[in-house]
Amino acid sequence: MSNKIADVLLQGGLLVTGDGITRSDVLISEGKVVRIDDDLSQSLAKKTINANGKYVLPGGVDAHAHPTFSDKIDKMSICAAFGGVTTLICFVGNLPAWGYPGKTEDIVSQFIEEAGSTSILDVGVHAILTPEDEPRFSTIIPSLIRDGVISFKMFMTYTPRTPNMPALQMPDHALMNIMDLCSTHGGIAQVHCETGCCIDYLAAQSVSSGNITAEWHAPSQPALLEVEAVTRAATFASVTGCPLYPVHVSAKEIPAVIKYFQELGKTSIYAETCPHYLTLTNDEVLKKGPLAKVGPPLREIEDNEAMWQAVSDGTVSVIGSDSTGFSSAEKFGGVENKVKVASDISKFNIFEGTFGANTIEHMMPVIWSKGVNEGRITLPVLVKQLCENPAKIFGMYPKKGTVKVGSDADIVIWDPTKQHKVMGQHGNADFSTFEGFELLGMPITTMQRGQLIVEHGELVSKPGGAQYIPGDPNVTAYASNGFKIT
Ligand SMILES: [Zn+2]
Repeated sequence: MSNKIADVLLQGGLLVTGDGITRSDVLISEGKVVRIDDDLSQSLAKKTINANGKYVLPGGVDAHAHPTFSDKIDKMSICAAFGGVTTLICFVGNLPAWGYPGKTEDIVSQFIEEAGSTSILDVGVHAILTPEDEPRFSTIIPSLIRDGVISFKMFMTYTPRTPNMPALQMPDHALMNIMDLCSTHGGIAQVHCETGCCIDYLAAQSVSSGNITAEWHAPSQPALLEVEAVTRAATFASVTGCPLYPVHVSAKEIPAVIKYFQELGKTSIYAETCPHYLTLTNDEVLKKGPLAKVGPPLREIEDNEAMWQAVSDGTVSVIGSDSTGFSSAEKFGGVENKVKVASDISKFNIFEGTFGANTIEHMMPVIWSKGVNEGRITLPVLVKQLCENPAKIFGMYPKKGTVKVGSDADIVIWDPTKQHKVMGQHGNADFSTFEGFELLGMPITTMQRGQLIVEHGELVSKPGGAQYIPGDPNVTAYASNGFKIT
């Protein structure tokens, strides 16, 4: 080690990685972690941060962000930073509501440009493909993979999702075609697994019988449809040899299905769940109507516990936020609707509500409080699920997702004694999905590449410093010599 003065010395904290917890000092220079040791008190640094009694974690890598609604990447990145997330992998596609109309490659470039000037955090990109893209799959997929967009999201449902939106549901033959191309070019397929034709059938039956209130949401999207669709997607992936990432799995039946295909060993399968599928039930929909409407729907306590078990034993690999940054008016399908039903939510037509959750800001604290504090998972498992595994699966590790020598200094200082009652969140969205949660353990300082973003609960960063982080297919968890998930 030279005598060069480092930028930051992080002193006295308990450093958490997926491997364990150690009492370590961390030295940072030029945005990177340059040294980790049990005592670096003799090192010279321009700034010393005392982390005594605190935990030091890698910044979260949120593998499931939708910054295209009320909260664009400018605001969503602020919410994320307050919650200890430092990298957002964002879904971008050629849908008017989810990006901009046009060619998918152009929309991805536009988003990267927008993030570069307005985001306070680094971003990666997942491309959403819709049936409209079908004539160009063989051009889009290899070209985006070359540009570091290595993950492609498809829907097995939503035909169309809302009246003013084009159809999202990808036909089976097109899904096979995409998986074949991903398998050839080093990509990974992300699939929303629910059986669309059955949802359409059940929802139409419900509506035509006048069963439109909140209690009819869950029966229109039963767990069976998730089982069928995960099975079908994993079958296609196994046949084509395409790595598969079923997004936001929720039902207690799913871990056994995932395990079956993982043990079959034909391809790599990494399932994702979300903080709301671990901590909230259908009761929330009965109380809050569209504010708690998500797809797949919130289910029951047994499903929450099965998801915790799958997170703990590694059958599920990632917890992602699926945050959409919707305002409550948007969730009610418009301001007028919201005003109309404000007095009596129980009469609202749940089928007119918008799908989506506001979860990114409180995701890590909720997992800490409900998972770690309540003994469901260990702290290293939290770091694997929220930091390391998404970085490995999407080709960003070890630059992102860990605190190791050579990694970007994306670091969160966590105070395990800090209490917080959730009341709204930063940004334009006027509510949090975790409204009223009493949390114990909060991030107090968030740092990206050695720069302070949030310090003692205050935003100290300006937009403009964000970087686009391309995914490298050669280092992914599914690449032959990549970073495996353990
Ligand atoms: Zn989503």
